[in-house]
Amino acid sequence: MSKYDQYEGFQVESPTTWTTFKKNKFDTKPFGDHDVEVKIECCGVCASDIHTITGGWGDQKFPLAVGHEIVGKAIRVGPKVTLIKEGERVGVGAQSWSCLECRQCKHDNETYCTQQVDTYGAVWPDTGIVTQGGYSSHVRTHEHWVFPIPDAIPSHLAAPMLCAGITSYSPLVRNGAGPGKKVAVVGLGGLGHFAVLFAKALGAETWVISRSHSKEADAKAMGADGFLATADADWNKDHLYTFDLIISTANNFGEGFDLSGYLALLDVHGRWVSVGLPEEADLVIKPQDLLGNGCLIGASHLGSRREMLEMLQLAADKGIKSWVETVPLSAENLGKTVQRLRNTDVKYRFTMVDYDKVFGA
Ligand SMILES: [Zn+2]
Ligand SMILES: [Zn+2]
Repeated sequence: MSKYDQYEGFQVESPTTWTTFKKNKFDTKPFGDHDVEVKIECCGVCASDIHTITGGWGDQKFPLAVGHEIVGKAIRVGPKVTLIKEGERVGVGAQSWSCLECRQCKHDNETYCTQQVDTYGAVWPDTGIVTQGGYSSHVRTHEHWVFPIPDAIPSHLAAPMLCAGITSYSPLVRNGAGPGKKVAVVGLGGLGHFAVLFAKALGAETWVISRSHSKEADAKAMGADGFLATADADWNKDHLYTFDLIISTANNFGEGFDLSGYLALLDVHGRWVSVGLPEEADLVIKPQDLLGNGCLIGASHLGSRREMLEMLQLAADKGIKSWVETVPLSAENLGKTVQRLRNTDVKYRFTMVDYDKVFGA
């Protein structure tokens, strides 16, 4: 018997067996005064899960249960918890802790804290216990990273907002997406579809940039005002110097990727913000590429608690619907689903559901 409380979850045991999930018991951190114990109801499948279990983002602590788009019920709250009530329907995203005392944490930038702990694959500093994600029966998280879900959003549609949604929402609001602004979203996958939904909800003119026209109808159905396919000759010619903001969700900057063609779309001091995190580091940037319009290049990591609550409220108020395919949770289905996501065979997010059939009601 372990001296720690244990949960049960579907773990991957090594990168060479990344499509094989095994239902194991694992230790969880001791229950702290600010902790919330969540009985998981469903969990979105994020590209980060694939980058992690395949070893694409480097060495990991196996065996590991991934999944960080968690929705469930708060079944126990610590004595000092004030943000969450027992019995509430809540979400947990990709981050589970930060110091809450540093400069970043005190300014709504807790996702940039140097001591942050990821929801899976990180180590709780005091115990050495590895954090385990949402393909599990429960998760135990500090209240600051547990978010009440508005009644208007069904659980399976709320789940992918907890990582993909907030990852897209934060750079939009931080970079002024709104009425009178023109925003481009590069790549229409899980992240990109949220970037379109939220950019439109915020009132920005919203365009999608993709390789081909294959996703144009979907982009328009999500509300996009326009669509550019980089395979077309002179694809950017009619839009030079017109965009205020480009959100790049591209997961790889593969062969033939020409950043300068995208940057040329930006108005003077317009911004390119990356939220996709390619495994390779082959993006070549020359200062000369930035001179024509004095554009700025950056990146963005998740979003603060305040932004998460705002995003969920916006989604509830505007009736924003994530495009989700639900999959009943099982070891076999997880294996199939991560392969489908790896092959980008998804429109536009998977949510694993039916947890009660696996872990009991
Ligand atoms: Zn901090
Ligand atoms: Zn994620």
